[in-house]
Amino acid sequence: MASRITGTTQLLGVMGWPVSHSRSPLMQAAAIRSAGLDYAYVPLPVHPDRLQEAVSGLRALGFRGCNVTIPHKAAVAGLMDELTPAAHGIGAVNTILVGDDGRLVGDNTDCEGAFDAIEDETGLSPRGLEVLVIGAGGAAMACAWGAAARGARVVRLLNRTRAKAEEVARAMAIQHPGCQFEVVASTDRDRIAACGIVLQMTSLGMNPGDVLPLDPEMLASGAVVLEAVYSPLETPWLHGCRERGLRAVDGLAMLVGQGALAFERWTGVRADRRAMKAAIEG
Ligand code: NAP
Repeated sequence: MASRITGTTQLLGVMGWPVSHSRSPLMQAAAIRSAGLDYAYVPLPVHPDRLQEAVSGLRALGFRGCNVTIPHKAAVAGLMDELTPAAHGIGAVNTILVGDDGRLVGDNTDCEGAFDAIEDETGLSPRGLEVLVIGAGGAAMACAWGAAARGARVVRLLNRTRAKAEEVARAMAIQHPGCQFEVVASTDRDRIAACGIVLQMTSLGMNPGDVLPLDPEMLASGAVVLEAVYSPLETPWLHGCRERGLRAVDGLAMLVGQGALAFERWTGVRADRRAMKAAIEG
């Protein structure tokens, strides 16, 4: 948050329903403070029935940009003047940029944020690798798109509902003909063990008693894993992967990755990722 809100303070926010649980205001306030910018970032609780009005309101109120969270990411994509290739390909928007002319551009930084988090923490890029994505919802789709965009050779999808994984694989294959998309089952030992990066993109691990999304023993000993869930910060699966000796990146790093990219798109200033993560840890 700007240390003092004045008549020149520029506005950013996050739309969701509910939105009170969102860590983005704390995280973005840390980035704004660290960069010394005159911006303020506020939570915007928007009921699904008022989404269209709220999105038009960004333009009317002179917001510079806005994040979008559950349940609005897909619906907002239909309300933009323009979509970036990532937002178009994933069919979801997590970042809105408001141009000086009021034009609304929808972007998706979840896909790049996930791989930035992995690269920042382990130095590993998906280029040329076989990548496993567990899940077939919005986060999984973003990661499948992001893996292919960053040069993965093969992207494998594993999901409880196999038909959804097949749908994602079909949609991604059309957009990324240079990457091979495959659907696997948890019994496909060899194809799972061949993956150098494994992204856990289901909601498993949020609730006590959740089963593990996959047995960590099935992963290659050199695999790097990324967890989407950040509450709890160390999910049983992340713990299991670390016990197995794997390099594992937590869900807050992914959250910071997407938020930092959004901040940079809005302000043109490099985001202080360390300050952002410190603001939302603990
Ligand atoms: P979503 O679209 O609702 O997808 C949920 C996924 O989890 C589906 O693949 C679903 O499988 C699977 N799943 C749910 N319950 C399951 C169970 N009991 N057993 C097996 N699979 C199960 O959600 P999303 O938006 O992709 O988000 C997924 C998770 O990622 C959430 O926890 C979200 O908070 C987190 N997330 C984190 C970040 C970050 O920055 N760290 C960003 C985005 C999302 P089916 O298809 O079979 O139902």
